[in-house]
Amino acid sequence: MQVSGYLKLSVAVALATIALKTAAWWVSGSVGLLSDALESLVNLAGATFALAMVTIAARPPDDDHPYGHHKAEYFSSGFEGVLIGAAALAIVWTAVQRLLNPQPLEALGLGLALSVLASVLNGALAWSMLRKAREVHSVALEGDARHLMTDVWTTAGVVLGLGAVAATGWTWLDPLLAIAVAANILREGLRLVRRSVGGLMDEALDARSQAAIQQVLDGFAHPAIRFDHLTTRRAGQRRFADLHMHMPAGWTLRRAAALRGEVEQALMSAVPGLRATIQLLPMDVEAHLDDPRDPT
Ligand SMILES: [Zn+2]
Repeated sequence: MQVSGYLKLSVAVALATIALKTAAWWVSGSVGLLSDALESLVNLAGATFALAMVTIAARPPDDDHPYGHHKAEYFSSGFEGVLIGAAALAIVWTAVQRLLNPQPLEALGLGLALSVLASVLNGALAWSMLRKAREVHSVALEGDARHLMTDVWTTAGVVLGLGAVAATGWTWLDPLLAIAVAANILREGLRLVRRSVGGLMDEALDARSQAAIQQVLDGFAHPAIRFDHLTTRRAGQRRFADLHMHMPAGWTLRRAAALRGEVEQALMSAVPGLRATIQLLPMDVEAHLDDPRDPT
């Protein structure tokens, strides 16, 4: 299944989850379950937005965006992060009200059963989405899957806590649970925002990809060849590397281009999705007047 297929499925599951969890809150009157339902509402908005963004990200480059539309994914994870934060604050507000005006819970068993059902749905979906996200390096899909996973854990916590309420009759435990859920949601939201800022700010590739690139370059080591000015960045599923290849000034362009082809090929197979741009230069010439000479 394609990334967009998973996201469509997650919209459908989000709708089902909202119905189940809202019913769980409705029958029990628990703010813990309400906080859980609210988070699912955020899921729906997030999944819908992610779907729109991934559709844009998959578009081929055009005249206005000659490098492609890969960065669109970062809007999605940033937007979702902000939504998650807003939901968390709404939950805290509701829970504090309930702490001040405690109310008894009803039909807790039925409410909990509905919640568990919703969680099983979410857990199964999140697990398969996370696998796909890792496979294709999709930030939007990963954001959505992680969010679903948070949902499952928070629901598990709420269900356990409400079980304790049923056993002890301590109704104040319910709003405290809701606040704990909110704190967890907020943390996840901040993580997503931080991630999309990293992408929009052209953060370098992760250490593992950089090490893989360096290893390939080291493999081509030769006294007459020097690689320098390596810069990397990531744009959604695309990864970019720019570097210089310095060689003896007497080499023919054909010979130089052949070696560059080999290096490019090796880089692309070492780091999937990498697009390498390699400038060919004589040993003692830099590409730009203001290029500092690398210390190597
Ligand atoms: Zn250079």
